[in-house]
Amino acid sequence: MGLLACQRDAKIRMFEAAVLDCRPAGEGFDVVLSDTILYPEGGGQPADHGTIAGVAVVDVQRVDGEILHRAVAPVALGPAMVEVDWSRRFDHMQQHTAQHLITALAQDRFGWATTSFHLRSGPCDIELDTERVSEEALVELEELVNAMIRAGRPVSAREVDVSALESLGVRTRGLPAGLTGPVRLVGIEGVDLNTCGGTHVGNTAELESVKLLKTESVTRGTRLFFLAGGRVRRALGEALETHQQVGAVLSASASGLVTAVTRLADESKARAKLVGALHRELATHIGAQLAASDEAVLTLHRPDGDLPFLDSVTRAARRQGSNQWVLLTAGSGEEGVFLVEGPPERVAELRAEILETLAARGGGRPGRLQGKAGRLSARGRVADRLRAEVE
Ligand SMILES: [Zn+2]
Repeated sequence: MGLLACQRDAKIRMFEAAVLDCRPAGEGFDVVLSDTILYPEGGGQPADHGTIAGVAVVDVQRVDGEILHRAVAPVALGPAMVEVDWSRRFDHMQQHTAQHLITALAQDRFGWATTSFHLRSGPCDIELDTERVSEEALVELEELVNAMIRAGRPVSAREVDVSALESLGVRTRGLPAGLTGPVRLVGIEGVDLNTCGGTHVGNTAELESVKLLKTESVTRGTRLFFLAGGRVRRALGEALETHQQVGAVLSASASGLVTAVTRLADESKARAKLVGALHRELATHIGAQLAASDEAVLTLHRPDGDLPFLDSVTRAARRQGSNQWVLLTAGSGEEGVFLVEGPPERVAELRAEILETLAARGGGRPGRLQGKAGRLSARGRVADRLRAEVE
């Protein structure tokens, strides 16, 4: 099979083909057509989705020279209407052609070659063979790309013999070794001539706009993320929506968002500091109260609190001269935290039993066992066990 219908004309949305074969495969069926407008995954461009005789096609792959359309149900042999999911395809055409344009201008203006391209559902990216892309270069490249969109340059494809490539000054990311026969060239008038089998828009104006987002260092160079066409508008819409929602929560206008969030963060920090101080003070009081008890085992359970709080309570009790066993727990249901303190050799002996009773995991320095408990309702049994130790 030579060029596919979708390569000869990327704008065909529906056409009639003959179903030559349909066989069970995976959870669906592999359908072979006489020709196709559904692009098979390749060259960094994902597979098209669409329908054959009204049956959904969820993947298209080229396997051993054959184009396999993965349909969700069987289709009858003979003539059938094939339709492409156009919004998905046009989005791919925009992202893919934008990649050609960015690649060409990054090479011509900065000398950076593109080593790979990833067309994903979020931002797409290309990898450039340069260690670093400065902020200024990013701004300049974006401006060059968008100027070329405004210029409305035609994008077209043709086939030439492989031997003609060198004399035409063609850019390529590599051709299969030993390739002979025709090679497909995709050109952007006055900008680029590239070997490519993918689908492209017919004019750079159809790209609408390209936004370069950010760069990231990778082992072999720099990854450059971008959005093209409809994705730019969608991303802007989502960003404005987020601004509006955050603004409504903070009762702030879009321009006042940063001020409002900064004030909130400052207040939160101050409050955390205050809560910390109050906790320490509370722990001191509770610890002193516990230490005044003549119980053999000092116990305390609080619905709220964490390990640092239980630790502060224990320290406060010790400062008051208490040398009793301590069993402190915190948590609103069965799950929470616990802290046991007593004579080191006794704590070591009881360790496994306590952990099992409380369904807990934990550790601690000699004389201390603390951690997360999964059965706080059993704390009374642990207290009884510790009391038995003392008697
Ligand atoms: Zn291409």
